Amino acid sequence: MADNRASAFYAGLSFVRPDPTGPWGTFLEQIERVTPYLGALAEGAETLRRPKRTLIVDVPIEMDDGSTGHFEGFRVQHSLSRGPGKGGVRFHPGVTLEEVMALAGWMTIKNAAVNLPFGGAKGGVRLDPKKLSRKEIERVTRRYTSEIGGIIGPQQDIPAPDVNTDAQVMAWMMDTYAMNTGLANTGVVTGKPINLGGSLGRAAATGRGVFVIGCDAMRRLGVALEGARVAVQGFGNVGSVAAALFAEAGAKIVAVQDSRAAVANPSGLPAAALLAHARNNGGVAGFPGAETIEREAFWDIACDVLIPAALEGQLTAARASRITARLVLEGANGPTLPEADDVLAGRGITVVPDVICNAGGVTVSYFEWVQDFASYFWTEEEINERLAKILRGALRHIWETADLRKVSLRTAAFIVACERVLTAHIERGLYP
Ligand code: NAD
Repeated sequence: MADNRASAFYAGLSFVRPDPTGPWGTFLEQIERVTPYLGALAEGAETLRRPKRTLIVDVPIEMDDGSTGHFEGFRVQHSLSRGPGKGGVRFHPGVTLEEVMALAGWMTIKNAAVNLPFGGAKGGVRLDPKKLSRKEIERVTRRYTSEIGGIIGPQQDIPAPDVNTDAQVMAWMMDTYAMNTGLANTGVVTGKPINLGGSLGRAAATGRGVFVIGCDAMRRLGVALEGARVAVQGFGNVGSVAAALFAEAGAKIVAVQDSRAAVANPSGLPAAALLAHARNNGGVAGFPGAETIEREAFWDIACDVLIPAALEGQLTAARASRITARLVLEGANGPTLPEADDVLAGRGITVVPDVICNAGGVTVSYFEWVQDFASYFWTEEEINERLAKILRGALRHIWETADLRKVSLRTAAFIVACERVLTAHIERGLYP
C-alpha cells in the first residue's frame, strides 16, 4: 500500500524523477552532447537544464452532462533570455509536465537557431479531444487561458497552435485574455483566424518550411526532387501540408501513417484526395487506391525521404536501423531518440533536426506578432518569400557549422542556438 502510494506520488511529480528515455531526458542528452563544443560558454549550460518557470494548473469545467470535469494544464517558460516566451499549446491525452518542459526547451533552441527574438515556451492540457464536445473544448481553452493568464501576454509569452489545437482555439484564447485584461491587443497568441489579426500563410507555414528546408537539403545531398519517394508519419497540419507540397513539386508520397493506420502505394498517393479522405473519415484508413499496411511496416517502406510529423520519440534505434531513406526531415518535435541519431549517423543518413526543419511555423508566428503590433498586414507572397529566405539562411549557417565542426546537423543547430542563448544570458548578467 505504502509502495503504491509512493509510486503514485512520483508518477504525479514527473520532474522529481525524470525518465531518461522520455522527452525531457532526450532534451537533456542533447544539451549534454553540445556542451563540449561551447567553449567558455559551457559554464552557463546549467541554465538550459532548468526551465525558468513551470506552471501547473487545474482546469475545472462544467461538462455537457452537468458534472464537473478536471483537467491538468501546464505552461513552461524554458528561457526568456532572448525575448518573450513563444511556443504552442497541445491538447493530448499523453501531455505531462516532462513533455511540456522538453517542448519548451526545443522552442528555446529553435527560436535561437533561426534567430527569432524569442525565448522558448510551451503549454498543454492533458485531455482526449475525441472524447470532448466542441463546447467542452471551448470551456477548457477559456479556463486554461485564465489560469495561465498571469504569465502570458504579447510582451511576455505568446502561445500558438500545436497538436489538436487550431485557429479557433487561438481565437478563444485571445478573447479570454482580452476579457480578463481589458486589452484589445490581438498579439497575445499567433495562429489566429485571419479575420482576428492572424497572418496569411500561418496555417501552412510549418509544412511549407519542411518542404523548403527539404528541397535545400536534397539539393545539397544530390537527391533529385522529381520522382523522390517520400514517406510521411502524421497527416495533420504539418504532415499533410508537407506531403501536398512535395507531391506538387514532382515527388511521390509512397506511404502515410497516422494515429490509427498506415497506407502505402509505391506509385504515389494523391495528397489532396488523401487529405479529403482523412478529413471525412477521421484518418487515412480505408483510402481507395492504397494498400493498408501493418503500422510497424511503415518503417520498412522503400523511400528516399522520411518525414516524421506526428509525436516525439517515434524514431527509436530499432526503427532507425531499418529505414531506407537517405534523408530524415523532422516535421515533429523530438521524433528521434539520441540512440537513433547515433544509428542514423552510422548509416550515413542525414537528419535535418526539428529545431530548424519545423521552424516555419514559429517564423510565420513571428511575422504575425510583428504585423499585429504594426496593425499592417503583408501579402501571402511576401510572407512565403520572407519565410523561405529566413529558413534557407538558417539552414546554410547550420550546415556550414556542421561541416566546420565535423558534427551532425542537430549538434550544429544546438551549437548555433546555445551560443546565442548563453551569450544573451551572460550579457544580461545575474539578477539581482
Ligand atoms: P496535428 O494534430 O494536426 O496532427 C498530428 C498527426 O499525427 C495526426 O495525423 C495524428 O493522427 C498523427 N499521430 C498522432 N499520434 C500518432 C502516432 N502514435 N503514430 C502515427 N501518427 C500519429 O498536429 P501537428 O500540428 O501537425 O503537429 C505534428 C507535430 O509537429 C508535433 O510534434 C508538433 O509539436 C510539431 N509541430 C507543429 C507545428 C504547427 O505549427 N502545428 C509547428 C512546429 C512543430
